Amino acid sequence: MAAHDNNLSYVPTWCAGCGNFGILNAWKKAMNSLDLDLEQTVLVAGIGCSSKISQYVNTFRIETLHGRSLPVATGVKLANHNLTVIAEGGDGDGMGLGMGHFVHTARRNLDIAYFIHNNQIYGLTKGQASPASDLGMITKFTPPPLGNMERPINIVKMALSVGATFVARAFVANISQLSDLMAEAIRHPGFAVIDILQPCVSFNHVNTYQWYQQRVMPIEKMHGYDPDDLNKALSLAGLWGEQIPVGLFYREVRPTFNGSLPQLTQEPLAKQKINNIDISKIMKSFC
Ligand code: SF4
Repeated sequence: MAAHDNNLSYVPTWCAGCGNFGILNAWKKAMNSLDLDLEQTVLVAGIGCSSKISQYVNTFRIETLHGRSLPVATGVKLANHNLTVIAEGGDGDGMGLGMGHFVHTARRNLDIAYFIHNNQIYGLTKGQASPASDLGMITKFTPPPLGNMERPINIVKMALSVGATFVARAFVANISQLSDLMAEAIRHPGFAVIDILQPCVSFNHVNTYQWYQQRVMPIEKMHGYDPDDLNKALSLAGLWGEQIPVGLFYREVRPTFNGSLPQLTQEPLAKQKINNIDISKIMKSFC
């Protein structure tokens, strides 16, 4: 695990205009508003342009394998349930390689905030269709006339369907809304997912800033909005086209996996001895 570094000053290597810059700004704003102890906060990222965010923030951080941010974040949370744990990655990382982990983290309701940088493309590997790419999208690897032949995964619908207890969507150009939702997601006691619409200016020339600006709509203004009603949230989640709802879709308080384990309610696992084995020594061997 990379250590918290007060002098962290890496310069982001994202392309000029990349939506990841907005996410980083919102991230810092959210952290400031929460006044979190950064020594007690861990960001676990996967692989991809999005996951580089872990190199530009001032918490403890792990950049793990492609699609594996959630199982690693689960391990961190279970080892020390007092930590604030955030997982992050792209739509390809989370909905492709990491899909199985996403489903199981949601149904367990682990107390983890998960921010998905959804640019609807694999950016780092130069523009292949991702699991969130629109049907018919032309890329170097999904050429005309058919383009992308696979139906996209609607991340909000997926999160609602598998049991996430806080589900939201935000557009990165609205940094204030995004940072507020991030702060709420971190505060939420359970698995909190934000689908962040994040243009990739280099490889996705369809879902651009302008394309989203013309479509995003505050969900609170939509008919039938009720964040306490799962069926209504699912119904609004189905909207994707002329109108794309953004905001909080659903919130529910339900016991968390980490909070329900009897052996974890007393003391963090990292401080316990099990069968006379000092867990802290094992943990240190990974540092
Ligand atoms: Fe951002 Fe796309 Fe460039 Fe990656 S390839 S840094 S997602 S603009």
